[in-house]
Amino acid sequence: MQNQARIKTILTAKPIDQDVTLNGWLKSRRESKGLTFLDITDGSCLNGIQVIAESTLRNYTSEISKLTTGCSVAIEGRLVSSPAKGQDVEVHAKKISVLGWADPETYPLQKKRHSFEFLRSIAHIRGRTNSLGAVARIRSRLSWALHHFFAKRGFFQIHTPVITTSDCEGAGDMFTVTSLDLGQIPFDKNKVDFSKDFFGRPASLTVSGQLEAEAYALALGNVYTFGPTFRAENSHTSRHLAEFWMIEPEMAFCDLEGDMDLAEEMLKYVVKDCVDNCPDDIDLFNRFIDKNLAAKLSSVLENDFARISYTEAVDKLTQSGQKFDYPVKWGIDLQSEHERYLAEELYQRPVIVTDYPKTIKPFYMRLNNDGKTVAAMDILFPGIGEIVGGSQREERYDILQERMKKANIPLENYEWYLDLRRYGTVPHAGFGLGFERLVQFVTGMSNIRDVIAFPRTPGVA
Ligand code: ATP
Ligand code: MN
Repeated sequence: MQNQARIKTILTAKPIDQDVTLNGWLKSRRESKGLTFLDITDGSCLNGIQVIAESTLRNYTSEISKLTTGCSVAIEGRLVSSPAKGQDVEVHAKKISVLGWADPETYPLQKKRHSFEFLRSIAHIRGRTNSLGAVARIRSRLSWALHHFFAKRGFFQIHTPVITTSDCEGAGDMFTVTSLDLGQIPFDKNKVDFSKDFFGRPASLTVSGQLEAEAYALALGNVYTFGPTFRAENSHTSRHLAEFWMIEPEMAFCDLEGDMDLAEEMLKYVVKDCVDNCPDDIDLFNRFIDKNLAAKLSSVLENDFARISYTEAVDKLTQSGQKFDYPVKWGIDLQSEHERYLAEELYQRPVIVTDYPKTIKPFYMRLNNDGKTVAAMDILFPGIGEIVGGSQREERYDILQERMKKANIPLENYEWYLDLRRYGTVPHAGFGLGFERLVQFVTGMSNIRDVIAFPRTPGVA
């Protein structure tokens, strides 16, 4: 058995008056004038196909008339033009085999629309709904488009490690990885004796592949890594997951300006690719989730992103007359309310904020000549807030070492990172794009838990 005939192919090619075979799940069934109408979907596209069964079929009474939502079937029949409204083709069944039943007493997807909250409690089934199926297809397309974007520009994909022993960059709390027996932890003077652990020292799940990507940018020029990252931060927001995916390009011989240009080009490229190739799925979100979605997507494609410095952003926020929960003054980390004000009210399009105070950014960001700010950039999207965080990296050995010491980074764990500045250092830059936040933007889905198949958040895995 091989699933070659997918509904999307049939609906696109429309081989009228020819025999087709298809497999799928029943969305709905109704009977009328001795005929049964089955709406079958197979996940290949949003639309289902209508299958008509006549009562002369062998198993009509024993099986076909007992089919309920969620049952799986294999169908052989002939594709014909449909006289009815709602579809231009339909299948006249010659044979319908039931592959799996779905007890209507317990199958959870009976109603037409369920709340996203309820669907989260059945994450293993929710991909069969219109909206979560569309999310999964768009997510897959965006991932493909990102790889395509980088491949076209000659970037190499690097698979950076998921387990790390360098406690990276303070990007958030980390999950420990250990093979110690938690019932019998070896102690050495009240401290866990990690020399007995698998790696002989503390290890955790990575919060970012950037540092390793830097090593390969300084070997291959332009690289990117795209993998899962983990943060044990106790955030209960609609924009944070404990496990999320990040795309991190890193470019040698590149400064902050080149970094911003690439990020803007990349975001436009993948959004356009999705708009062009997933029109039905995007239309679903535009109708049912966010009526302004299509307008928001085209506004990203049609406008240059605004670019302002952090200092200008702080001025604009303080002059706005807007009341913020968290008051604005130079030196604070911008909060989501500030980010959204800039992107949604003030500019009404994506905004790139650059040159943040060094005190709120990690050690590896390049110190500007003013000695107070670093060559950082965050991209803020309407409805999302921060979607990209990036910077030019500090390539000067002395300054980097100084900043690491000030940040209490244990230098002995980072000798390899310093080597990159000792031997053939070059200006380089990169950024991290939160993949789920991108999927949120393209679908208009308001909760990040609904744009990844199996979300991990505090208390939920
Ligand atoms: P935020 O301020 O929104 O918490 P951050 O500044 O901690 O994000 P970075 O370390 O700059 O994030 O990570 C790069 C990108 O990864 C962010 O721009 C965002 O798109 C995404 N991101 C960061 N943390 C999370 C998370 N917990 N869940 C999902 N995406 C995230
Ligand atoms: Mn950031």
